[in-house]
Amino acid sequence: MENMKIWLNGKLVPKEGARVSVFDHGLLYGDGVFEGIRSYNGRIFKLTEHLERLYRSAKSIILKIPLSSGELEEAIIKTLRANNLKDAYIRVVATRGVGDLGLDPAKCSSATVFIIASKIQLYPEELYEKGLSLITAFTRRNDIKTLNPAVKSLNYLNNILAKIEATNAGALEAIMLNKDGYVAECTGDNIFMVKEEALQTPPASAGILEGITRNSVIELAQSFKIPVKENLLTRDDLYGGDEVFLTGTAAEIIPVTRIDGRIIKEGKVGPLTQKLRAGFKKLVTCEGREYAL
Ligand code: PMP
Repeated sequence: MENMKIWLNGKLVPKEGARVSVFDHGLLYGDGVFEGIRSYNGRIFKLTEHLERLYRSAKSIILKIPLSSGELEEAIIKTLRANNLKDAYIRVVATRGVGDLGLDPAKCSSATVFIIASKIQLYPEELYEKGLSLITAFTRRNDIKTLNPAVKSLNYLNNILAKIEATNAGALEAIMLNKDGYVAECTGDNIFMVKEEALQTPPASAGILEGITRNSVIELAQSFKIPVKENLLTRDDLYGGDEVFLTGTAAEIIPVTRIDGRIIKEGKVGPLTQKLRAGFKKLVTCEGREYAL
C-alpha cells in the first residue's frame, strides 16, 4: 500500500518513518501483546471483544497500555480514515517499550503502541472451495502452565516453528497438539470438527487462544440449532470427522479436507461448513462498529 500511515505512540506517521528502537523489549524479548482485527465495508467486526482480549492479555503480563480502551478505539478509527480503508486488517501492538539490554521490564518507562491498518491478505479463494491440507506438527503448543496460549503475546516462536514444519511438508497450516497429545489449535487459527451433525472444538483448557471468530462461529451454530461441544480431541478424532474447518480473523472459516495424508470424509467441503461460512459472511456485513471515512 502506497502512502501508508501508521499510528505510532499517538501520531500518524508515514510507513517509512514508523520506527521503533532496537532497545524496545517487544523486539529484544517478544515482551508485548497484540490483536488482529478486521473491518468489513466500514464496520469493525467484534471490536469490543478484540479490545477486551488485548487489555486482558496486557493485564496478564502486567503491561500498562497508556490509553483507555475508548482512546484506542478512536486511534484505530483515525488510522483507518488516514488510510482510506473500508475493508481492512488492523494490527494493534503494545510492547513493553524501550529499556536496556536486561530483562527487567521496570527499566522500560512506557509502552510502545502502534496500529497498522492494511488491506487483508487472504488464503487463495480456491482453497475455500477445495479445502486445506494440514499436517500435525512435532512442535507442541505452549503449555498453559508456562506461557498460556490464551495470552496473545508477541512470543509466537512456538507457532512459527510449527508453521515451518508445515511449509517443509508442503502444507499451509499445522495442527498443534498440547503437551498431553490432545489437539489444541493451528498456528494462527482455531480448529473445529463436525461429527454426526454436531460441532466439536477443543476447550480453552486444552491450551488455545480463544478465538473471537471461534466464539462467533459457536454462537452462529447455536442460532442454527447445531449442537456444539467443547471437548478434547485427538488426531484420530479429526481423521474420522465428517468435516473439519479452521477459524480465525484473517482466514474467517476455511475448510480442511486432508490431515496428515488422510482424506476427511470424501475430501469435499461439507454442508455444515458451507452453511456456517454463508452465515458468517452475512454476520460480518451487518454487525460491527460503524465508522465513516
Ligand atoms: N489461535 C492463534 C494462535 C491465533 O494467532 C489466532 C489468530 N489471532 C487464532 C487462534 C484465531 O483467533 P481470532 O479468531 O480471534 O482471530
